[in-house]
Amino acid sequence: MHVCAAPAGGGACPCAAGQKKSGPRGAMERLRVLELYSGIGGMHYALQESGIPAQVVAAIDVNTTANQIYRHNFPDTTLWNKTIEGITLDDFDKLPVDMIVMSPPCQPFTRVGLQGDIADSRTKSFLHILHLLPRLCRRPRFILLENVKGFEVSSARQRLVETLVECGYTFQETMISPTSVGIPNSRLRYFLTAKLSTANESSQSSKIPEAFPHPAGASPHQHSVVSSPPSAATGRPDEDTQGGHVLYKQETEREAQRKTSQNQDLSVRRIRDFLEPPGDVNMEHYLLPPGTLLRYSLLLDIVQPTCRRSVCFTKGYGRYVEGTGSVLQCCVETEMESVFEGLDQMSEDDKLQQLLKLKLRYFSPREVANLMGFPQSFSFPQQISTKQQYRVLGNSLNVVVVARLLRLLVS
Ligand code: SAH
Repeated sequence: MHVCAAPAGGGACPCAAGQKKSGPRGAMERLRVLELYSGIGGMHYALQESGIPAQVVAAIDVNTTANQIYRHNFPDTTLWNKTIEGITLDDFDKLPVDMIVMSPPCQPFTRVGLQGDIADSRTKSFLHILHLLPRLCRRPRFILLENVKGFEVSSARQRLVETLVECGYTFQETMISPTSVGIPNSRLRYFLTAKLSTANESSQSSKIPEAFPHPAGASPHQHSVVSSPPSAATGRPDEDTQGGHVLYKQETEREAQRKTSQNQDLSVRRIRDFLEPPGDVNMEHYLLPPGTLLRYSLLLDIVQPTCRRSVCFTKGYGRYVEGTGSVLQCCVETEMESVFEGLDQMSEDDKLQQLLKLKLRYFSPREVANLMGFPQSFSFPQQISTKQQYRVLGNSLNVVVVARLLRLLVS
């Protein structure tokens, strides 16, 4: 069934594709996909990983660094280096596509940001898409959107949902972390998948929980979305007392327990499976410098290769310490407890000697990419600095999680 809402001003559908039937596709026919806010191509990799026959007919992003990386990995994909709000209805109608995948800028919705939501200028391009969707000659059959926790309570989400209903989509929303697909990295994100409804198609509503089971005893990997109040969306460690225990780092009892239980969750693989061979990592380059060790040791999230957890890697990884991602303890013979015990009473020199024993280093960008499910074929052009690599990876997504969602959406 061809759905054509005539462009504003009325008139017949101008595009040739509008005349074409867009019924179920033959097995060999590839889905035409539009990748908005393409970044380094996390969505493109997820499509490949999903095994769905698909072709990205256009990718759009304004970030020149991300675009260099995208082009390096997908030299044959058409990449528009322009703002999405500059793209007209006519441009979109000329494509036309079966699926839109997108990760709109998340800063307007993050809990640490100002939560400008639809008033934030960075949401403008997303509102532009919502404006165009009902007017498209041929609406895409599938939409997948990824964003941060916080989006689910935003006005932007409200507008999105209203537009989808108006356009005849069924949709599903969920919060998923990569731990639910066995990857030892927390990155709880909001996902919405939408499908253009046809008369005899039922909603896909029960599929997501089955595909992302919640292993017993573990910390939550998946959350249902809709009614979470803003306070529940902070994701911050609970303000807890230390219950009389001596905690060697600035962590609450509750946090320590959470880490222990995460490390016991056998459904999740170990960090070591995601590390580069030791000889491939330039230790000098990745070891934490003395100044960082002295100033921030109590704020570090330290993991060992045998752990089954790590915290979300953000775009500030390698530059800022607090809350930007875990660091790796390379010398596992040294007990972390023994290093941190009595540390605050030591002289700077002794303190440093103690901390150096752990051989703490940053995960390399390749290792962060591994934890984010990027395939080995993914690489960076030579001129992209390590900090730029962390920055773009921090903006990206978990490929394995999205691949699974795409399969559910299209199946
Ligand atoms: N999914 C992507 C990352 C998305 S982050 C990945 O896998 O890497 C959001 C991206 O949107 C950033 O790369 C940013 O440059 C881009 N962006 C933000 N505002 C934009 C706009 N108005 N037009 C085009 N791209 C935009």
